[in-house]
Amino acid sequence: MQVTAAEIWHALNQGEFRFFYQPKVSFLTGQVSGAEALIRWQRDERTIVPPDAFIPVALAHGLVPEITQSMFPRLVEDFQRIRSVNAATTVALNVTAQDLDTPRLLALVRAAVAGGSISSSQLEIEITESETVSGSEMTTSSLHALIGEGVQLSMDDYGTGYSSLDSLNRLPFDAIKMDQSFVLRMLSSPKSATLVKASVAMAQMLGLKTVIEGIETEGVYNTLIHCGCHEGQGYWISPPLAPDDYLAFLNAGNRWPASPVGMLRMAQLSHTWQKTLLVDAVFAYIKSEKRGDLNLKGLHTGHAECALGHWHCGLGKAFAGDPDYESLDVPHRAMHDICETIFSVIDTEFSLAQLKGMLDELTDNSNRVTASLQRLEARLLMEELGRGRGH
Ligand code: C2E
Ligand code: MG
Ligand code: MG
Repeated sequence: MQVTAAEIWHALNQGEFRFFYQPKVSFLTGQVSGAEALIRWQRDERTIVPPDAFIPVALAHGLVPEITQSMFPRLVEDFQRIRSVNAATTVALNVTAQDLDTPRLLALVRAAVAGGSISSSQLEIEITESETVSGSEMTTSSLHALIGEGVQLSMDDYGTGYSSLDSLNRLPFDAIKMDQSFVLRMLSSPKSATLVKASVAMAQMLGLKTVIEGIETEGVYNTLIHCGCHEGQGYWISPPLAPDDYLAFLNAGNRWPASPVGMLRMAQLSHTWQKTLLVDAVFAYIKSEKRGDLNLKGLHTGHAECALGHWHCGLGKAFAGDPDYESLDVPHRAMHDICETIFSVIDTEFSLAQLKGMLDELTDNSNRVTASLQRLEARLLMEELGRGRGH
């Protein structure tokens, strides 16, 4: 179907656009955590035009900001109804560089937040990486201003552009949304599965949340549930729903499979990664003659501040009293103490045998931490399988 700019204008003036909401589910709780607002053009009683049929035309004619600005109040209105059913969910809006090239969207967001219609932490902005690349300085400064307001920023369709890593590096994203194409091919292509899982792991190491969209089957859901991704979205959970249907969906209070194993695995991964970073940095420091450009400080944190410590003092507390959970505290603290000792002697005369002794001690403690985490993981997996079999 060919759509013209004049038809889009007309539809805008007639109020023919509306949002559908596609639920996202938390892999940790199995509950709905939020929804993505996806625009639809209700041309007549029976015809709903999908965004791919008109957003590209609107973009080509610079009409997208008009659409976004006129739809934002609708989003806020819908959200107020959503909030009355479930106050803990978020809503995500897709924006383009064109939207950010004017200060209007920012002004609308600020006004809605100031008026209490939506809290900024419940509003997410999804932007594709190609949009951020083509964007001007204004785009970047609008994104920073939105983040300054407390709005969450997600990189949409991660992995499809040319410079996802560059954009991740330049802009303070809170989350990445893995592109559907990888997810749709996951079960038939081990390469796609690896790309999804490795991207989740990379995001974790950068302190970013991950959302996986395009989950069309139970098999894909169950393949992803332990990969450390935070949220899932896709037809298997629900298609995008008209506002009333989304409210009914929330009201039904359904639950999807959930597991703490993903977060536990991410704690393990961060732990091993942190140790590798430390060993590399110490090696480079000792080997280099010019040490001025090598900074060891950032690597040295207290045991509660590293990624594993955050997990231990945060989500991991759900396992308090569990012998494996409890048994990782002592070797983990010991690891931080050894690091402190290494840093305290690094600028003094010390023998390589001394250093080897400390690294061995670090490894022994790290192995004890890993063993505890892996035993805990295996037990949780067996419990999940047992529940599935009705044991
Ligand atoms: P997106 O932001 O990546 O949104 C995800 C798209 O995947 C949606 O298509 C959604 O309906 C579809 N989808 C969801 N689950 C599945 C699944 O399990 N399998 C498959 N194959 N597809 C799934 P939709 O609604 O047609 O939107 C297409 C694109 O149009 C969006 O991609 C987004 O880039 C753009 N778009 C949608 N709404 C807006 C809007 O309000 N403003 C702007 N600027 N762009 C929008
Ligand atoms: Mg999106
Ligand atoms: Mg997407």
